[in-house]
Amino acid sequence: MALPHPHLAHPDKLFIGGQWVTPSTANTFAIVHPGTEEVAMRVAEAREADIDRAVAAARDAFDNGPWPRLAVAERVRYLRALAEQLDQRLDDLAIAHTLQIGVPISMSRATVPTIPADARAFADYADNYKFEEVRAAQGGHALVTREPIGVVAAIVPWNLPGHLGMIKMCPALLAGCTVVVKPSPEAPLDSLIIAECAEKIGLPEGVLSILPAGREVGDRLIRDLRVDKVSFTGSTAAGKHIGAVCMERVARVSLELGGKSAAIVMDDAPLAHVIPALVGMSTLLNGQACMALTRVLVSKARKPELVAALGAAYAALKVGDPFDPATRIGPLATAVQRERVERYIDSGVNEGARVVTGGKRPEHLTQGYFVEPTVFTNVDNRMKIAQEEIFGPVISIIEYENEDHAVAIANDSLYGLSGAIFTADAKRALALARRIRSGTVAHNAMGPQACLPFGGYKQSGIGREGSPEGIDLYTEIKTIYLNGPAA
Ligand code: NAD
Repeated sequence: MALPHPHLAHPDKLFIGGQWVTPSTANTFAIVHPGTEEVAMRVAEAREADIDRAVAAARDAFDNGPWPRLAVAERVRYLRALAEQLDQRLDDLAIAHTLQIGVPISMSRATVPTIPADARAFADYADNYKFEEVRAAQGGHALVTREPIGVVAAIVPWNLPGHLGMIKMCPALLAGCTVVVKPSPEAPLDSLIIAECAEKIGLPEGVLSILPAGREVGDRLIRDLRVDKVSFTGSTAAGKHIGAVCMERVARVSLELGGKSAAIVMDDAPLAHVIPALVGMSTLLNGQACMALTRVLVSKARKPELVAALGAAYAALKVGDPFDPATRIGPLATAVQRERVERYIDSGVNEGARVVTGGKRPEHLTQGYFVEPTVFTNVDNRMKIAQEEIFGPVISIIEYENEDHAVAIANDSLYGLSGAIFTADAKRALALARRIRSGTVAHNAMGPQACLPFGGYKQSGIGREGSPEGIDLYTEIKTIYLNGPAA
């Protein structure tokens, strides 16, 4: 059966400075559907000359164009118009997401409305954002202003490219920056649909470019002295490199990186609530989500019951064709990703953890990058599967002795992105949440929600996105001393 395709007007072109242009080479990226391993589509690949052209356009638009000098209300109007265009492309966005990454179509359809919602939310934040403030100063006043940071390079990963691109692009544009977005070769389609919508709203020339490119070309982008700020979402390994490159030239940088988040299950938490929440928060995007809850901490008394219930729930997840609305877990995004997950499963077994369910490729699926949803128990927090980000539907159950021990295990990680406390006692949840060193902690695993800050402690990143604080990342603070009364 033919695979569904999103409608792309210009798969053979690149979106540079607001226009679809012919690329500098005939190179293309193959979009491989991970459910069947078929090449579903091809799109143009940006090379060095294309990136160069986009950066030159962005630099010129920032230095000489109208965009940074517009009233904020004008930029807000553009973003609201973008949201309206995106509303009309939800079907294409959902199909694109499932086609490239293999996320079940029901999940893609549920998540794509966040893409126009991001534009609207940031427009609202910008409406209320304090870009200027008069403060008292000796001998007069000072105007503390937040100016646009300049030319922004936004580097986007493959797992949720639409939303993750929007939460960079929208605040950067609203702050008055010009932006070059680099989606990943594995998943450029959402970004190209966003580019088609951006073309329709008629941004001034040079303000926005969206170019799918590989790492080496991306590396050139982050090193370019004309780029003032790099906003990166991706792996901690790439983030460290990008951070180091940016520091070398004192470019501004924000990083949204990996995670290994813990869910602490207290003895009073009803499993009827805990299990569905844990399954949901650990299998988001087939387990390829930075904020996935992948370590479950439970007391010795409660462990047998939790192991049985979580094992049964994982075993019941329907694995298969991601375009089937009944599918709950699709394939991993790429062959490389599946090999990586399989290596982690082997390492868990070799280090002495016990597989409760899963652990291999599903027998009924001979094509596609599938692995069975896998639950490990008897995991020691020092094992590789408890310390490193697996990025697949694999969850580890770890036993704690008491509350302090649970907190110590949760915090014994290089990461600090997310976390959850399951308990019927709200006061206890808050007290425990304060002790967890991570950017988000949820009582009974709610959220994350775009209106609230999101980002990491420790090696999970630098900066907070997806909230009014997300605008801060695209501004420079200037203090102007006024030798006279404030205007
Ligand atoms: P990745 O680090 O391999 O790549 C991310 C992006 O960076 C891609 O576009 C890639 O082409 C680009 N890139 C890599 N090296 C580069 C370089 N030297 N210069 C310029 N660009 C470069 O990550 P991935 O495999 O695409 O995504 C998965 C990772 O992203 C996971 O570790 C996940 O936890 C993380 N992630 C974090 C968040 C968050 O908000 N904290 C959200 C989603 C994903």
